[in-house]
Amino acid sequence: MSTNTVYIGLGSNLSNPVEQLNTAMKSIALMPFTQLIKRSSFYSSKPLGPQDQPDFINAVCEIETELEAEDLLKRLQTIELEQGRIKKRHWGERLIDLDILLFGNNLINSKDLVVPHSQIALRDFVLIPLSEIAPGLVIPNKGKVENLISTLTDSYLMPLG
Ligand code: AMP
Repeated sequence: MSTNTVYIGLGSNLSNPVEQLNTAMKSIALMPFTQLIKRSSFYSSKPLGPQDQPDFINAVCEIETELEAEDLLKRLQTIELEQGRIKKRHWGERLIDLDILLFGNNLINSKDLVVPHSQIALRDFVLIPLSEIAPGLVIPNKGKVENLISTLTDSYLMPLG
């Protein structure tokens, strides 16, 4: 079994988002064949979609795992369901959203899984926490995280005090 360094993005804007992120990180740390290595600070971000919803809290974490990517996705989806994920509308409110951002240097393009995450280069709430815990990280086919940050036009990301 091979071990991969994997980055996971977390987001929530309902029912005490900080607690939702902490709960999800604990569940991630308890997954089999997996170690939680680093967690970023928590950041507040403006919603991408409809604006009549609360701001999001976002973070990323780094794990080392022997799980296969598809298995990891299923386990993250189980955590989302256990925390009572509701999806009311596209880009709408979320109790907890967990995304696989990077899975080692793997490029994955299957029906259920696109890695690196398709939106990774566009999202300040992913790139800025990633550069906090993994400065100099290179995103396959896209480049260094700090270079991607410098191309962002607007950022409304605020570290939580
Ligand atoms: P969303 O509700 O926007 O988080 O999208 C969830 C769907 O995205 C699921 O059906 C996943 O199969 C799919 N998906 C594709 N790539 C990824 C990824 N890198 N991480 C998480 N979900 C993904």
